[in-house]
Amino acid sequence: MKTCELFKVKRVLSFEIFPPKRTDSVNTIYDTVEKLKGLNPDFISVTYGAGGSESNTETLKIASAIKNNYGIESVVHLPCINLTKNEALKMLENFKSAKIENILALRGDVNPSFMPKNDFKYASDLISFIKENGDFNIIAACYPEGHVECPTIIEDIRNLKSKVDAGANQLITQLFFDNNYFYSFKERAAIAGINVPIEAGIMPVVNKKQIERMVTLCGVNLPKKFLAIMHRYENNPEAMRDAGIAYAVDQIVDLIAQGVDGIHLYTMNNPYIALFKRI
Ligand code: FAD
Repeated sequence: MKTCELFKVKRVLSFEIFPPKRTDSVNTIYDTVEKLKGLNPDFISVTYGAGGSESNTETLKIASAIKNNYGIESVVHLPCINLTKNEALKMLENFKSAKIENILALRGDVNPSFMPKNDFKYASDLISFIKENGDFNIIAACYPEGHVECPTIIEDIRNLKSKVDAGANQLITQLFFDNNYFYSFKERAAIAGINVPIEAGIMPVVNKKQIERMVTLCGVNLPKKFLAIMHRYENNPEAMRDAGIAYAVDQIVDLIAQGVDGIHLYTMNNPYIALFKRI
């Protein structure tokens, strides 16, 4: 089914996973899916490395298994920066053959190891292309604190409106640790006329290295309370994991109280995410 339909009847809970590293067995991901299934997610999305079509064939395989073997709706991520239009077309055909109905259409991060192919400059170009070439539900990314490359949040919201106007029916935010950014972002989006459902992206942080990487990559702010937890438990991995999960649960409870459309959990393929109970 098209995941945008779910928001009409409920608050959505979704999970994000990524294909295992080449050195790991692909079966590790199915163990994770099995555990996540117990939490009754509305859908699971599968990330895609932005290195181009040859670099990642696992995303479709995993998304297809989630949908066709586990009976859970799935979403494929599709970054376009390193795709030609012909490659993108072929991928859409493969998605159709696998009965995939939902695509998270992305630009992808600029990677110095891969020359951008220049057929798609922004995610909005890919969204228009998908619209022209199939009947998919299109999801787009958004950034409560602004995208790192964009000089102002207002400009970033304007660019987000272009993605919705091009055909995105649903949005998922980048992770954030301070809900106030999300609430301000929602207000700005509404003023800009963006009225599609917005799922809040939450990452339960289970180790310090993970958060350092995320901050460098996404430029998200870390509130004092969060930093205190990281500092206090940095030498105690189990306590850090439990505190990280408790922090995420607090965020989620507050978001639900404020009427959020949905929660998208960045699971990092970690089965400990199963400590979450359906709220
Ligand atoms: P865009 O919407 O194209 O925006 C990129 C930048 O360009 C922004 O600064 C924006 O403001 C600006 N911009 C957009 N349109 C215009 C315009 N017309 N004129 C001028 N400026 C413009 N990456 C992966 O490689 N694989 C994944 O699986 C993946 N999954 C993700 C899932 C989520 C939920 C999120 C939030 C991000 C994900 N990413 C993934 C990361 C994403 O690819 C990067 O954040 C990337 O830098 C931007 O992608 P985008 O689709 O938001 O790009």
